[in-house]
Amino acid sequence: MKYLDEYRDGDKVKAQLKALQERLTRPWQVMEVCGGQTHNFLKSGLDGLLPEGITLVHGPGCPVCVTPIELIDKAIALARQPQVIFCSFGDMLRVPGSKEDLLSAKSQGAEVRMVYSPLDALKIAEANPEHKVVFFAIGFETTAPMNAMAALQAKQRGVNNFYLLAANMLVPPAIAAILSARDCQVKGFLAPGHVCTVSGYVEYEEIAKQWWVPIVVTGFEPLDLIQGLYMLITQLETGSWKVENQYRRSATRQGNLAAKALMEQVFSVCDRKWRGLGPIPASGYCLKPEYADLDAEKVFQIEDITAEEPKECIAGLVLQGRKKPTECAAFGKKCTPQHPLGAPMVSSEGACAAYYQYGIKLRTS
Ligand code: SF4
Repeated sequence: MKYLDEYRDGDKVKAQLKALQERLTRPWQVMEVCGGQTHNFLKSGLDGLLPEGITLVHGPGCPVCVTPIELIDKAIALARQPQVIFCSFGDMLRVPGSKEDLLSAKSQGAEVRMVYSPLDALKIAEANPEHKVVFFAIGFETTAPMNAMAALQAKQRGVNNFYLLAANMLVPPAIAAILSARDCQVKGFLAPGHVCTVSGYVEYEEIAKQWWVPIVVTGFEPLDLIQGLYMLITQLETGSWKVENQYRRSATRQGNLAAKALMEQVFSVCDRKWRGLGPIPASGYCLKPEYADLDAEKVFQIEDITAEEPKECIAGLVLQGRKKPTECAAFGKKCTPQHPLGAPMVSSEGACAAYYQYGIKLRTS
């Protein structure tokens, strides 16, 4: 198929759903890792059309959602410093920290600006040499190359008032952490197609082998999702555990070698704390020592800020696929997109926002 519309063809989706139903002989719980996949399952109505035996649980693939609360507090502490212009993607502005969010800091005078790219923040730094410009570098393997490019260009162009609050995270260690739980019920994964387009899927092969779990690299359109699910259920029904690639029009086994080389030039792999999942070894990117002068945490000495997640928000359980958003007592009552208590209700990729937006009732397993 050549065109995106073909991946939204209702007849083809129906035929694939029928094949899926025929393939299924027993119940399976599977996880779609990416928040974009969650939203599209719900937006297209596919979630409600799946055979009863399939329980979809939603994974940690929403970068805004998994950024820990203490990093939000660090961002606010930076934004409140004199002479600092703090730049961020729009989604992060309303994510609650322990006391406030970036938007409320802005309303009280902090210089917070929404940007679409770290290169926009770099331009702001060049245009404001008397200020210190910090970019909130969140995201997975998909945004890391852009962040690396901004760091590299800052060095090359001699911009010495540009910094990164480095927060990039890596998806495979989070999948491994979910599988490591003794009571993990997830039997297969739809891996995020766009992340694998950058990173490739060699690391996912190691996970599949270690836990005997099938993984299908999957796209985002309705036909992608249902094909990915069919491939996954076929593996489960036949006792196979390997990595397959449904998203062949974009992802390859080795990924984008140029983007990976760029990331390796600027970042090294380090341990990172995830919202809801806690610290995960080797699950993030940190700036290499030769880029330490761009590292906002070190330069502005905010490394020691810590914070606890709010007790009433069960985002951690939602991000591990242990609870559905509608199982949270605050869902749609104390927590709405207008007044979010947790990041998954704010983000355009958050599972709680998706359930709220598409009016999903709890599907029991
Ligand atoms: S509904 Fe709100 S409070 Fe509940 S888990 Fe989601 S973000 Fe947290």
